[in-house]
Amino acid sequence: KEKVIVKGVEKKYISKKGETQALKDINFSIFENEFISIVGPSGCGKTTLLSIISGLIPPDKGEVYINGKKVKGICPHIGYMLQEDYLLQWRTVYDNIKLGLEIKGRVNKKTEERINKLLAISGLTDFKDFYPKELSGGMRQRVALARTLAPDPDILLLDEPFSSLDYQTKLMMEEELADILNKDQKTVILVTHDIAEAISLSNRVIILSKRPGKIKKIVDIEFEKG
Ligand code: ADP
Ligand code: ADP
Repeated sequence: KEKVIVKGVEKKYISKKGETQALKDINFSIFENEFISIVGPSGCGKTTLLSIISGLIPPDKGEVYINGKKVKGICPHIGYMLQEDYLLQWRTVYDNIKLGLEIKGRVNKKTEERINKLLAISGLTDFKDFYPKELSGGMRQRVALARTLAPDPDILLLDEPFSSLDYQTKLMMEEELADILNKDQKTVILVTHDIAEAISLSNRVIILSKRPGKIKKIVDIEFEKG
């Protein structure tokens, strides 16, 4: 079943520097439980594409459909982890993760258990009362990922979620993510610069060309997930 359909999407930015055609004629579909990576050089439109799929910004042309419905704003089925972590500085790690549930109206008596589980998975249990400024970049990224996972969205959009992690932590987090996904069955779109990461995690890789961002190639990865 098609979970996400991207149809004829185009996007142009107009600024003082002039016009930038960020995306041109983007077409693809994602099926339920697929893990897709989007790779391509810096500035090719990866972040723009995720923002359009999430409903955060509208395309100039074309449409996105989630579960068969046209996206017209922020979509409740989606968890979007932005490239910058946007943690609230006045809230602890625990309360930043809780925010993920609050904004979806999903706080209930299971909340504490859920957050504690996410803290454990992310190796953050000992840091749950820390504030963002007391954490390393990699730790903040793990908080942001935990916050995105908290409300258990069925579609995850992840923009360079592991980019500030050191090599060991990155491998650990990639493995944790793969585990979570094997258990929970989610549809994932991952944006990354790292081809090795794309190949090891996903079952399809979409390669965008420099500019304007167009689909250069879609590669099926021919091995069993997990
Ligand atoms: P990347 O996704 O490659 O890590 P960024 O998302 O930070 O990098 O930015 C990608 C490009 O978009 C950069 O060249 C940056 O200058 C440009 N960019 C991002 N935001 C704006 C903006 N508000 N106005 C103009 N250019 C921007
Ligand atoms: P990527 O994530 O692949 O690095 P982006 O989607 O961030 O690419 O950017 C695609 C192109 O659009 C880049 O050329 C960038 O400079 C430009 N761009 C992105 N955001 C803005 C913005 N808000 N205003 C003007 N130009 C932008």
